[in-house]
Amino acid sequence: MKRVLLASSCVLMLVLTFFIIEQISRLSDADAYAYANAGNVDDVADAWREQVPEATKAPEKVEPSLMPTEQPTPLPTPLPTVTFTTQYAHTGEMKELYAYGQGVAYGLRYPVYEDNAMQAAVQSAAEALLTKELESFAGCEGTECKLLIDYEDGEAGQLQSVLFRIERETDDGKEYTAIPWVYNKKKGEVVDAETLFADRAYIYIAEQVSNGITGSRENFVSYLLTADGAKFFYEMDGEEGSVIVSYLELHTYMAVTINGNVVADSIRELDPDKPMIAFTFDDGPHYQQTPRLLEILEKNDARATFFVLGDRAFWDESNKRAVKMVSDSGNEVASHTYSHKDLATLSLEKLTEEIVKARDNICALTGEYPTFVRPPYGSYDDEVKAYSYAPLITWNLDSKDWSFRNKDQIVEQVLAEAGDGKIILMHDIYEFTVSAVEVLLPKLIEEGYQIVTVRELFYYKDVELENGKVYHSSYN
Ligand code: ZN
Repeated sequence: MKRVLLASSCVLMLVLTFFIIEQISRLSDADAYAYANAGNVDDVADAWREQVPEATKAPEKVEPSLMPTEQPTPLPTPLPTVTFTTQYAHTGEMKELYAYGQGVAYGLRYPVYEDNAMQAAVQSAAEALLTKELESFAGCEGTECKLLIDYEDGEAGQLQSVLFRIERETDDGKEYTAIPWVYNKKKGEVVDAETLFADRAYIYIAEQVSNGITGSRENFVSYLLTADGAKFFYEMDGEEGSVIVSYLELHTYMAVTINGNVVADSIRELDPDKPMIAFTFDDGPHYQQTPRLLEILEKNDARATFFVLGDRAFWDESNKRAVKMVSDSGNEVASHTYSHKDLATLSLEKLTEEIVKARDNICALTGEYPTFVRPPYGSYDDEVKAYSYAPLITWNLDSKDWSFRNKDQIVEQVLAEAGDGKIILMHDIYEFTVSAVEVLLPKLIEEGYQIVTVRELFYYKDVELENGKVYHSSYN
């Protein structure tokens, strides 16, 4: 059953890829800033206003004769005190709090989740937000000092996303802001936008908006992650809007990949200032050597990229299992095409078949489309670049394992040529190659290298990857 779902989501993604141009739904102005303009939000706000106590009450008149003759030193106005233990109202999926203090009437809503740790985290985020917002009302003496915090939530794989919508009302009018909150359920921690999206993600998002907005982080502070994609809100020249970008498009800019139901943490926390080197393994999977290699990687806290062959991946159950193990262990599965033909010699029809069949087989096993393609023999031409629908990853350090066929010579070759940002070519179908890796990893780590996947390498080196472009390393 799970397999069927997985396969059908791959088909869906395939369709989406082919019609990628229309994947970005640009929402009309009418839909823009739902929290500011949408009817339901106003209705909610109206309903709240009825529940929220009046902000200002006329002071009771005191007879002059009862006033003390000496004016006491005025005390500083204390900040509103928030008591979170009172007035909670359980309404199924959210918690509500209405109260009044120090001239401000306020309301807070936040979601209730089954996961206790996540619940504690979202509650503390909501309370901190309320406290901070109330502080900014200090001294508000108008007739309309109101604060309403509502939310919208969404889920994308292991990420729970909440967008707190804040409505502030003073005599100067109303102001709307929205603050995102994201929680990684698998890791049990709150994730910020800096961790989630690389800087260059915003350049891509701005391109989708295509109204001249600058692709900077500050312009897309508010966002909500949903099953369909990441929805970013923006404001430009007084106009408000939003754009949804699918994870398939965003994934090379993200620290977490989200495709359908299957999500893996694809970028580890690494030291960007320490050297990195990417081991890549072609022509697998191998039912014996691939799992053995995974163990060695795991033992060294290292990760690598496996350019597998689409047909070999489906040879038998043990090969299928090997591909799944690569993906499940946090290593990267990429495409070495379906059957290892020299792509530059093929007709467009055959070329497309090599790309698409490999991609579908990989997706059927891992639930994710491979991000990268490595053309067999490193052979490509303009047609290959245009119709691979992926960045083409080659190498700039050939271990020559296929020609040495000897562990020690492979070790010597790699150590002699190792360097920051390099991509190493190897093959996980040979016993001697895997044995060489077993020797190489501790040595390179001792030299200060971090052993990373191709995706991690480009992420940390801040290289913008484009479909149809060829990359030999992080720097050329
Ligand atoms: Zn190959």
